Amino acid sequence: MKYQPVIGLEVHVQLKTDTKIFCGCSTQFGAEPNSQTCPVCLGLPGALPVLNKKVVEFAIKAGLSTNCSITPRSIFARKNYFYPDLPKGYQISQFEDPICQRGWLDILVEGEEHKRIGITRIHIEEDAGKLVHADVSGLEDGSGVDLNRACTPLLEVVSEPDLRSSDEAVVYLKKLHQIVTWLGICDGNMEEGSFRCDANVSVMPVGSDKLGTRAEIKNVNSFRFVKQAIEYEIKRQIELIEDGGKVVQETRLYDPNSGKTRSMRGKEEAHDYRYFPDPDLVPLVISYDWIEHSRQGLPELPEQRRTRFVAELGLPEYDAEVLTASRSLSEYFEAGVEAHGNAKLVANWVMGEITRALNDTGTSIENCPVSPLQLAELLKLIDAGTISGKIAKTVFDAMWQSGKTPYAIVEEQGLIQVSDTGAIETIIDGIMAANAGQVEEYRGGKEKVFGFFVGQVMKASKGKANPAVVNELLIAKLKG
Ligand SMILES: [Zn+2]
Repeated sequence: MKYQPVIGLEVHVQLKTDTKIFCGCSTQFGAEPNSQTCPVCLGLPGALPVLNKKVVEFAIKAGLSTNCSITPRSIFARKNYFYPDLPKGYQISQFEDPICQRGWLDILVEGEEHKRIGITRIHIEEDAGKLVHADVSGLEDGSGVDLNRACTPLLEVVSEPDLRSSDEAVVYLKKLHQIVTWLGICDGNMEEGSFRCDANVSVMPVGSDKLGTRAEIKNVNSFRFVKQAIEYEIKRQIELIEDGGKVVQETRLYDPNSGKTRSMRGKEEAHDYRYFPDPDLVPLVISYDWIEHSRQGLPELPEQRRTRFVAELGLPEYDAEVLTASRSLSEYFEAGVEAHGNAKLVANWVMGEITRALNDTGTSIENCPVSPLQLAELLKLIDAGTISGKIAKTVFDAMWQSGKTPYAIVEEQGLIQVSDTGAIETIIDGIMAANAGQVEEYRGGKEKVFGFFVGQVMKASKGKANPAVVNELLIAKLKG
């Protein structure tokens, strides 16, 4: 029997606000344990939550950018459970009437058609604190509770079970990551847990319309691990069923070291949490004007920008996709095009030399030492025939190192291209004289030797000879 995996994702997006969701404490990561707390986020009796308006603004932006409807009147609810990192005994979340509902994202898996993935809901909630254990932290013994993270604002983005493979899940997740970082509402740092994912995985026989029992894999925090965890889980469930066993509904943990998931606890149902509207918080009413104002203020989103790069700048789809991977990268590229004019040439350099240098040095595009303007100046030197494309790469490396302008480097290092036919002819004559054998071969019909001559001339001119002129003169002279 063949099986079809069914996957839904619940993604926790930590919002990039300066302060927490219901109090004024800082959300800065990595501070001394419990140094960023107050009666509200410590859950002390009588302390009252006050909603941070920025959180609502960010949630609306996320909803509009993922094609959701914004709920005019949404409700905060208490999700009741006990855990040592949750002193109140409940988490403030949204249950019925979440702030955003019924959205979607279109994804494209390589080699397949576009596919629409439904977003059931996006709701606002607070994060819990963190347990710190002696075996994995600096703690000497026992375990401690750090409540700095308690009350940090989160969005939970819940997809429909529309995903059918680990590849689709990763593409969807990357797309969501791209959007929330593009909007500037999340720093996207997966290692610090700012963007983490729970995956609901089940399998059913191909052709069936009855969903299998699902297991939930908790808190996976890298794209690679999401792929591995889902693949392991699919395999585990199929093997279990084929052995005559049954998948049980449960929460599982993925261990990146073993590449396996293991059972953590039986899966609870919504009614176990005894959700009820939080009496300390009034319903959240969002006016039509607020939503429209937010819509007007949205930046051009990655998909729109990609489409525009193809339509207006004539870029190939692939280039447009790569260049809109992040907002900063696309802005760098556009500034370069504005200064130079030739979009495809700028695209090649940004995707080539710039990206290579960024990767090699672990630099982000925001801190790129070569500005878009300087890149454009360099490309203009190629256009003007002052330097060859090959020499330009040398100049680029020097710009990266020194921060000097391309022209200054070209002058200093004497890299100006030689287009003077007289000078190049002299070089060619010398090389032909020194390689009479090869000249004979060429004239005898072995045209491959041509490349050898080009190489020799370029070498003799230290890369400065204009390649077009070299080609032209060589052909004329070799043909004799
Ligand atoms: Zn606080």
